[in-house]
Amino acid sequence: MDSDLLQLPLFSDADRAFVRDLDARARAQRWADPDADDALALRSALTTLASWGTLKHTVAQPYSLTVNVLARETLAYHSGMADLAYVMQLLGSLPVQLMGSESTKSVILPKVANGEACMALALSEPEAGSDVAALSTVARHDNGYRITGTKHLITNAGVADYYSVFARTGDGKKGISAFIVDAKAPGLSVEKQTPSAPHPLGIVRFKEVQVPTSARLGSEGEGLKLALMTLERCRATVGAAACGFAKRALDEALAHCKSRKMFGSTLAEQPLAQAKLAEMQARLDASRLLVYRAAWAMDHAKEGRAPREIALAKWQATENAQWIIDQALQFAGGKGVLRGSIFERLYREIRPLRIYEGASEVQQLVVARDMLEE
Ligand SMILES: Cc1cc2nc3c(=O)[nH]c(=O)nc-3n(C[C@H](O)[C@H](O)[C@H](O)COP(=O)(O)OP(=O)(O)OC[C@H]3O[C@@H](n4cnc5c(N)ncnc54)[C@H](O)[C@@H]3O)c2cc1C
Repeated sequence: MDSDLLQLPLFSDADRAFVRDLDARARAQRWADPDADDALALRSALTTLASWGTLKHTVAQPYSLTVNVLARETLAYHSGMADLAYVMQLLGSLPVQLMGSESTKSVILPKVANGEACMALALSEPEAGSDVAALSTVARHDNGYRITGTKHLITNAGVADYYSVFARTGDGKKGISAFIVDAKAPGLSVEKQTPSAPHPLGIVRFKEVQVPTSARLGSEGEGLKLALMTLERCRATVGAAACGFAKRALDEALAHCKSRKMFGSTLAEQPLAQAKLAEMQARLDASRLLVYRAAWAMDHAKEGRAPREIALAKWQATENAQWIIDQALQFAGGKGVLRGSIFERLYREIRPLRIYEGASEVQQLVVARDMLEE
């Protein structure tokens, strides 16, 4: 991956060295085929990232959004599954990092960093997606808590060792609490769901799953706040992953345009193709700058918050990446849609990023509300 924008003063020499090293390792790695077995590919990517020491950044204190966006952009360029393995350690463990007791942190976080524990976040439900506060899974007091309910579209379902679970201990927005739940707990079961791009995903059912009081993350009623804090820390990294996919598509498209012969010259010589290439580059640079700004703003914010910058980065980078990848596939012509083509793979991989961790419309609302409050 080139390092043009990384020369900006937003980054330190350590950041640049981190990207150079991760990029070289990820480029040389033979990643397992995710279409053959998504769970196996994820586990294998996790082991690889652990052996490189990369996962320690997902639990580093203080939290650095800059390092996390650089890691995701770099990994997504080479392997969607490596990017997923990385981010789920971050997303699934952030509730523990933010509100776990010292003893919970000391058990879980070292295992996150060395890849021994694979993490998941169980928030969404069939009737509560964008409207997170509508969730209906219940945690009833009984010698600790008993959790009953259904989560769906859960990444790493069936692969994870721990789930950060959000459940009701009372009514309304203040009636949601969070728990860390061992995947082996009796009463927890998983049913696989199969999305268009390889991605371990599933329904997680909780039937009277017993957890001790010490499994609660934060106080009772702090669950919604914790969910939103977690999502806010991860959202810009979704934009970063989108930039990694888009950059790969643009590099592949450029190579294809230069080598594809047509009308006595090459595709790259056609003025319409050049206009498209220029727009792809403009959208990619704009997206990367928005993502880097969000990371800088959050890492330097007094209260550790930058909701407008983060929402703009997630929304624009994912929408632009979808467009860039679509144009890249168009350049490839009919061969672009064949299974096994890099364009086809990226086309499938990018789509969910515009939906999860707050759909584009949700990000638009965050931006507009922030503008109107000013
Ligand atoms: C591949 C994948 C992995 C996922 N992994 C996880 C996971 O690990 N953990 C987890 O908890 N969840 C996960 N999810 C679930 C994801 O977070 C939800 O799909 C997302 O929050 C949207 O919820 P929903 O699907 O219920 O759609 P809905 O909430 O029904 O929204 C449908 C659509 O409505 C539109 N919309 C939403 N709000 C507004 C509004 N205010 N105004 C106008 N339009 C609006 C948007 O276009 C949105 O796409 C994953 C989803 C996918 C696809």
